[in-house]
Amino acid sequence: MLTEKAVSNIFKYTLSFDDLLLVPKYSDIESRKEVDLTTALGAKSYSLPIVSSPMDTVTEDSMALAMANAGGLGVIHRYNTIREQAEIVKRMHSAGREEREISVAIGVSGDFLERALVATSEGAGVICVDIAHGHHSLMERALKTLKDKLPPEVTLIAGNIAMPDGYIELSRWGADGVRVGIGGGSICSTRLQTGHGVPTLQSVMACHIARGLNRDVNVTPAAIIADGGIRTNGDIVKSLAAGADFAMLGSLLAGTSESPGTVFHDAGEKKYKVYRGMASPEAQEDWRGFASSLEGVSTTIPYKGSVELILRDMTSSLKSGLSYSGARNLSELRSKCEFVIQTSAGQSESGTHIMRSK
Ligand code: IMP
Repeated sequence: MLTEKAVSNIFKYTLSFDDLLLVPKYSDIESRKEVDLTTALGAKSYSLPIVSSPMDTVTEDSMALAMANAGGLGVIHRYNTIREQAEIVKRMHSAGREEREISVAIGVSGDFLERALVATSEGAGVICVDIAHGHHSLMERALKTLKDKLPPEVTLIAGNIAMPDGYIELSRWGADGVRVGIGGGSICSTRLQTGHGVPTLQSVMACHIARGLNRDVNVTPAAIIADGGIRTNGDIVKSLAAGADFAMLGSLLAGTSESPGTVFHDAGEKKYKVYRGMASPEAQEDWRGFASSLEGVSTTIPYKGSVELILRDMTSSLKSGLSYSGARNLSELRSKCEFVIQTSAGQSESGTHIMRSK
């Protein structure tokens, strides 16, 4: 039986995606068709446990539509005007998407309430309160205001947090989903600039344990959204096994036809797109005209073509992942899975290593 102590002990050292592997288990699953990836956010269900990140090089309408088509969710970023964001929501709604498939990001101050009211009146059903340090008094105020002013059927996502107390408090303040992970993003320099953060997989595990231990009848523990540092489909499977209900992705979905921004060529005709942290100097200059508190970087990544194919491949990899644990759905995955810690020799063996063998 897990105890409160287990939650505090788990932070004596931290484990990251590459430190852990899932042990293959007996399986009687004969086809990936038998595996169901359905997951829930508040009262709403989704057939793919993937969310695209609210970043200006990841999610506008094309990405949000592709995510909805694949059964997941795309969160439209907030680095635009209220009208621009609402127009994207409108286009999604006329494209026939349901409210639960339309999500927008807002902040915790300034125009946050107006943004949420306009977006929900145009058809958005999921509001994501998107700040870097989510376990914060401003988050409490924003969530309580939104709970008070928005229609009750609107789903709230909030974050980011790294620790179980943050997860439980955001749940208490009204979040239906909590983004878990501080400092792990591929374009993030928060840990370098501030010294703060916790490896994402560890945070997810700790929040999942806290959810199991919660006895407070006033708290409905929120869905856990693993966010930051997910580089492979295997990392997604590890996140889901560790207790995540969704994985939020930036770099894995950036650089595609559906991500905002233009494709450009280098001299050798290789194609690229920009992918940048929202706290990078370049992004800050664009959205607020100056840069301070730099906690992200901007880079170019190879152009990957259609995100549809990436999501299709991801879906079958996740189903394979569940079947290796003998699991037909996410709850079976969590009850059947077994993690082991691997040494650096194991880590080296775990990557494709033919290129390194000479
Ligand atoms: P990735 O999937 O590893 O590329 O990480 C994407 C996540 O990084 C996002 O969902 C955010 O949580 C986070 N993020 C986005 N921009 C920044 C930034 O500028 N600094 C730190 N974290 C960021």
